[in-house]
Amino acid sequence: MSVISDNFDDLGLAPDGTVDASRTYRLGIMGGTFDPIHIGHLACAEQARDAFGLDAVLFIPAGQPVFKKNQKVTCAADRLEMCRLACADNPAFDVSPIEIERGGDTYTIDTLHQLRDYYPENVELYFITGADAMLSIVSWRNSQGLSKLAHLIAATRPGFVMSDEYRRTLAEHGCFDVSYLEMTALSVSSSMLREWVGQGKSIRYLCPQGVWQYIQDRGLYRASGLGE
Ligand code: ATP
Ligand code: MG
Repeated sequence: MSVISDNFDDLGLAPDGTVDASRTYRLGIMGGTFDPIHIGHLACAEQARDAFGLDAVLFIPAGQPVFKKNQKVTCAADRLEMCRLACADNPAFDVSPIEIERGGDTYTIDTLHQLRDYYPENVELYFITGADAMLSIVSWRNSQGLSKLAHLIAATRPGFVMSDEYRRTLAEHGCFDVSYLEMTALSVSSSMLREWVGQGKSIRYLCPQGVWQYIQDRGLYRASGLGE
């Protein structure tokens, strides 16, 4: 097991000689709080993999998301385990604990530096995020270099029109080269799922079955339960 991901070797991306230096690899990076992971996240990663010819997508749950400081977040171990359960049946998906293990506030730029240092140059990084989240990410501390470390893929809903202000904000932060991925609109969010579980409603089919089972077994998202 590598320090970066659970199954690097399976993906053929291990830097210990198993990487084929004669070809380029494309590795997608899907960051998020994943509290819990749901079909929107998984479909987004899969559609990005398909559209950009990615060899694999690494899901990286945030340790301490900087922009969610004023809200309670489920303990990292539970969020990590739910990601593992969700990705288990897709050989092109993998999960990395690096943001959780790094501790402290989570900044995407630190993660991308860490991955860039770890992988050989023939592994290209593709950072995938929602078009809205992209704006907050590029505006974070020290994010100027973000697009030098990874290609940026912003997932949009069908019909998304980029405003001048949106373009300006990206440019102000040095991000001129963002690819857009128009994905199927799946109107589901982690906040909605937490709310529904709290109200005793079923979220079956809105997240993988194993994740739903885990939530029930651990009693997550009940009125008082956000893990330890
Ligand atoms: P919350 O409701 O708690 O904010 P969330 O559902 O937005 O959670 P996050 O973990 O914050 O999930 O998001 C991780 C990434 O997944 C972000 O880049 C976000 O834009 C993207 N994402 C979230 N929901 C969807 C969805 N339904 N379809 C496509 N992408 C999504
Ligand atoms: Mg969100």
